[in-house]
Amino acid sequence: MEVARTRIIKIDPVNPEEPILVEAAEVIKRGGLVAFPTETVYGLGADAYNRDAVRRIFEAKKRPVDNPLIVHICDLEWLESVARNIPEKARRIAERLWPGPVTLVLWKSHEIPAEVTAGLPKIAVRFPSHPVAMGLIRHSGVPIAAPSANLAGRPSPTTAQHVTQDLYGRVDVILDGGETLFGVESTIIDLTSEPPKLLRPGPIPVEDLERILGTQISIPDHARGLSEAEIAESPGMKYRHYAPETPLKLIEALDYHDLASYSAKVLEIAEEYRSRGFKVVILASRETCQIYVERGFEVIELGSRKNFYEIARNLFNSLRKVDELRADLAIAEGFEERGLGLTIMNRLRKAARHCRILV
Ligand code: AMP
Ligand code: MG
Repeated sequence: MEVARTRIIKIDPVNPEEPILVEAAEVIKRGGLVAFPTETVYGLGADAYNRDAVRRIFEAKKRPVDNPLIVHICDLEWLESVARNIPEKARRIAERLWPGPVTLVLWKSHEIPAEVTAGLPKIAVRFPSHPVAMGLIRHSGVPIAAPSANLAGRPSPTTAQHVTQDLYGRVDVILDGGETLFGVESTIIDLTSEPPKLLRPGPIPVEDLERILGTQISIPDHARGLSEAEIAESPGMKYRHYAPETPLKLIEALDYHDLASYSAKVLEIAEEYRSRGFKVVILASRETCQIYVERGFEVIELGSRKNFYEIARNLFNSLRKVDELRADLAIAEGFEERGLGLTIMNRLRKAARHCRILV
């Protein structure tokens, strides 16, 4: 599947130029595909009411058709047209956190075609806060269905260059609004179940959602990146995801308080592989990276253990960098599963798939 030409258009991420938004919205209204920045990652958007346009998203991304999309709105009132039987809890979260990086799973309205939700009776909805995303939806006048703008299985795109690498020639327009803010996909919470269920950890920590709802949220193993979901309930879990081409091993610890002994163990594993002739690259925190550099390893620094936002933001770009370094093996450090640490570990575990080592 090829579209004739992909136009890459630079756009101001803070004050997006109206004529560019109008032009991109025309493409959406005509059933085309537009990649655009959001505060989480770049999305690949189409008119959520247009079945053919939505099918084109799946083709462009080579996405399995049973993996549902998130519908993006720019007005709280639109919630009624995409979802029904909306519980009070949804309004509470929406009032506090929208526009923002949290997605609500609700009962789907009949107007939304089945293609959007992969035939599921539930719909995932989000109101993004990025000015380009908001402007594009507003000018299009319709909800925009959008998954991340990468080829299925690849790390999500946090820059327009990542989108270009994956989707050039496969989409109509790429709006280049620079680097995204959070760098990981939205937190997804299913509000149709009791207690509410976390489907994907993201920039909004579960702890914050629990405080807003005043109830506990259940965190299934698959949301921690630990097992595969049976149906595409949170398909992030079902398919290979985020993975670099280079095999990735994730070295986890029960706790990360004794960083010196933890990094010594990571080093030991890395040296073991190097002695067998592997070219090894290590993804490490700022606190520990020097140890590996001193032993002559190539290191990709993820950020500080004291600032998980920094690590989350650098994560997907770092996973793409792994392939550029042409190593035989990448070894990643693990992080404490608290707050955004849960989000980071979910992505790393899925990128590493069956290669988790506990030290
Ligand atoms: P992506 O942005 O590429 O990760 O794709 C959107 C993600 O949203 C999917 O992979 C699912 O994890 C989630 N999602 C979308 N719709 C639903 C739904 N109806 N029920 C549960 N999860 C959903
Ligand atoms: Mg995705």
